[in-house]
Amino acid sequence: MSDAAGEERPVCATCGSTPADPEAAALARLTWSRGTENGREVWTCAACSRRHLRSIEGKLDPAWW
Ligand SMILES: [Zn+2]
Repeated sequence: MSDAAGEERPVCATCGSTPADPEAAALARLTWSRGTENGREVWTCAACSRRHLRSIEGKLDPAWW
């Protein structure tokens, strides 16, 4: 485990997954959904975004959140 200074890896707010290496982190920043919640930056990984998209397309289910 090493914490590279100045490098922030996004963490999925839904499933808690995080990119395993800097390369994956850079990719995640492009492919994950970024939002803001209470002034904080929140990320949703591609897999969760897809699942949310489906639930949103069907019907908005508050239980999901
Ligand atoms: Zn996720």
